[in-house]
Amino acid sequence: MIDEYLAAARRVKPASEPLVAHYNFCYESLLGLTKESASNPELYVTYSAERRCELITVGQRTYLVYDQYLGQTFNRLNRIQYATHGSQDLSRALASKYLAERLLQLGSPVIAGFLGMVAHQFENNVKEEGNPFELSRENEATRVNLIVAQELFVIAHELAHFRFSLDQERSSEETEYYINQFLDYHRTLPTEPAATRDHFDTARYYEETLASQQCIPELFADDFGGLIAFQVAVRAFGLPAWQAVAGVVLAFKYLRLFQHLEVVAHYLCDVATVTDPSLFAKSLSKLADDVGYGAQGLRIAQLREHFLRYRLSQNEETSNVSELIGEYDEKTEFPVVFGLVDRLRENLTPRLLAGFAENATFKQDPTAMIDELTGWVK
Ligand SMILES: [Zn+2]
Repeated sequence: MIDEYLAAARRVKPASEPLVAHYNFCYESLLGLTKESASNPELYVTYSAERRCELITVGQRTYLVYDQYLGQTFNRLNRIQYATHGSQDLSRALASKYLAERLLQLGSPVIAGFLGMVAHQFENNVKEEGNPFELSRENEATRVNLIVAQELFVIAHELAHFRFSLDQERSSEETEYYINQFLDYHRTLPTEPAATRDHFDTARYYEETLASQQCIPELFADDFGGLIAFQVAVRAFGLPAWQAVAGVVLAFKYLRLFQHLEVVAHYLCDVATVTDPSLFAKSLSKLADDVGYGAQGLRIAQLREHFLRYRLSQNEETSNVSELIGEYDEKTEFPVVFGLVDRLRENLTPRLLAGFAENATFKQDPTAMIDELTGWVK
């Protein structure tokens, strides 16, 4: 029944069998670290343009649906971190491709087609200067390890949500206990007067965030999910501890990037119907202003990321992890979150979109054209 449900709800293609065996092994290993429960969700692996991992209940059964395309996209982001050149443009290409595929699903083929072309262009520019993905053996090994930890975390985070639902009271208490430790750490860490003020502010910033929004279930899912993913990555897959930590934290950041792109996709979907040029320009400016994560969203994202890093740092010295995450911000997050929308605002007009819709190849079959441009079929 889950097959029919997903086929109706998403654009799907069959999952790769050898990888399904790998995910089953990951899932069994994660389950081995949680309390046994007859009602544990069944893992179901799919491949869809949604790139989502989620708990879905159909009839009496709960499934943990893992989307292989999510892992594939993570893998691409990992490659970009180690690319020999053009990381920022490759990140913009990936973001444009993501938007193109989502807009196609949301029913905006024209703007999807435009973004498909943008993705293609960004990528071609980089490839003109040679293959950016010829990695050293060492970087290739790290990349392979990162994806293991990342996929484990994505699955473990959902499993943790399920566990939370079984005993909300105790799970909340557990999380609050660790959150208090985390706040204490920020309150007591500093020794110099200037630093004291900074750290006190950090703690207060998080206290306010916690008071203003119910985020305990997410904090629990990050914390518990992060810890079991870390343990399986190190014990069952033999990852060096720092790579297991870096994989988990990057996975969190990648998911946050996708959330951002979801917001942009829905926004562009609305803008696409505006034909008046000045209204169109105004809407795009508004998107550029709103587009960070919104003040509240940003606070929660920061709290979640720092709590996750704090909890995992007990396993590992953090300099390698911080370096990789700093590079990710430079190479991917900033160029996409702050750069891409600005470029769209500068270039996109109703006239350009209308001209694009008139294009002969586009008229034949927009879906096929966009799939070709974004490589969805590959
Ligand atoms: Zn969650």
